[in-house]
Amino acid sequence: MSAHHHERTRRTVGGDADVIVVGAGPAGSTAATYLARAGLDVLVLEKADFPREKVCGDGLTPRAVKQLIDLGVDTRPEAGWLHNKGLRVLGGGLSVELPWPELTSFPPYGLVRQRRDFDQMLADHARTAGARIEERTAVSAALTDERSGRVTGVEARRGPEREPVTYRAPLVVACDGVGARTALSRGIGKRDDRPLGVAVRRYYTSPRSRDDFLETHLELWDRSGEEDRLLPGYGWVFGMGDGTANVGLGILSQSNANGSNYRTMLRAWCDSLPDDWGFTEENAAGEIGGAALPMGFNRTPVYADGLLLVGDAGGMVNSFNGEGIAYAMQSATLAATAVVQALARPEGPARERALEGYPAAVRAELASYYRLGNRFAHALRHPWLVQYTARHGLPRQTLMRFLLKLLANLHDRRDGDASDRLLELVLRLTPQLSEAPPSVGRPARHAKPTTRSAPGRDRAA
Ligand SMILES: Cc1cc2nc3c(=O)[nH]c(=O)nc-3n(C[C@H](O)[C@H](O)[C@H](O)COP(=O)(O)OP(=O)(O)OC[C@H]3O[C@@H](n4cnc5c(N)ncnc54)[C@H](O)[C@@H]3O)c2cc1C
Repeated sequence: MSAHHHERTRRTVGGDADVIVVGAGPAGSTAATYLARAGLDVLVLEKADFPREKVCGDGLTPRAVKQLIDLGVDTRPEAGWLHNKGLRVLGGGLSVELPWPELTSFPPYGLVRQRRDFDQMLADHARTAGARIEERTAVSAALTDERSGRVTGVEARRGPEREPVTYRAPLVVACDGVGARTALSRGIGKRDDRPLGVAVRRYYTSPRSRDDFLETHLELWDRSGEEDRLLPGYGWVFGMGDGTANVGLGILSQSNANGSNYRTMLRAWCDSLPDDWGFTEENAAGEIGGAALPMGFNRTPVYADGLLLVGDAGGMVNSFNGEGIAYAMQSATLAATAVVQALARPEGPARERALEGYPAAVRAELASYYRLGNRFAHALRHPWLVQYTARHGLPRQTLMRFLLKLLANLHDRRDGDASDRLLELVLRLTPQLSEAPPSVGRPARHAKPTTRSAPGRDRAA
């Protein structure tokens, strides 16, 4: 055991920080920024070394832009952002441009930026706010107090030597992405009654690099089998503005497909696109990258025993459209609010009540929408739905604008227009549908109760 390790573990009173944040992706950096601004001593542990790549579509809807603006990030083009005006949807031989809706709650533009840049920028933002970020520090498990069952910190391995080290804090915010190492070490597994997607992407040097719209293709065919099959998902072409385009596809995961299948599907889809877009092997900038999309709260409870799950670690990807950055930042904001309130109270029931405010806030803001999304994901397994929408929906602008609001979760919840009110009504009615198995509503199957003290753990999100 190293001297350093020893010194850390000896400091039991006060610990190493007020709060530990695991991971410095959008969730971690957002949480850290708000926590530090509230005057807390925040320690962020990040396994990678910035700048680092993160496999992503790099597309930000107005929901994500709102989060950036709230955080105080300069989103003007002068600050290096590529702006977009809406979504272009292709399907059934048609192409429709849908501008982002005009709303009180969200700005009228989206953005594109490589995650390599984006994540570093957000991490710097957290540092400026006063958070300490230790890179090349990979958390392997949560530390648990044997008596109380509470999380009291984390175990990690640090630096090139992978030196074991222990950090202590009364609260841990797990923002470690889809791998969710910290939650897993507490036995909080993935729920298989909720949807999981898979997405792959690659950069290509392409004349499609400049585009005012985020482009999505509704019809993805798998032509590898005996019969052609329409896949439950979509393809995208996001111009990066730097001579390249981010080209990828996201689909609901299917038991019969493995990782290499998805790569083959991306290649096949690229081959089916116009030659002059240039999505060929020669024009590829980098390899195909892929990862899972944990959707619709597929890991619960999002709070128990001193551990909060945020962003992908809490399965917060939108099951309608695969968007995750906005939700990572939003849930991070809600988690930070709860932690700030909690740490201002004495340890014990009063503090726990403040922490239960996190799942409660996530539920209030997202649960009815996610329940509907989980049903939608289930329905997508019927390929006719996509085909029907492509053929009969795309020609109808009003319907498509409504669908955009639904699929991108962009509407005013109060004082909106007729379509906003209709959406609110649908969302309000959704909880009543949610009892029906198998897609929603059941308590966690794998969540092993590790302690005695968590009322409402199964209700979480
Ligand atoms: C191909 C693809 C395309 C996508 N396209 C989009 C898109 O266009 N728009 C969108 O909004 N979303 C998109 N998503 C989803 C989006 O990438 C995620 O939802 C988002 O990154 C979640 O943010 P996060 O901070 O929760 O996790 P992450 O971004 O995964 O960040 C987790 C951080 O934790 C670190 N970490 C992990 N484990 C540990 C550990 N044990 N110890 C310490 N640090 C650790 C990681 O290095 C990383 O920095 C896409 C996903 C994929 C796979």
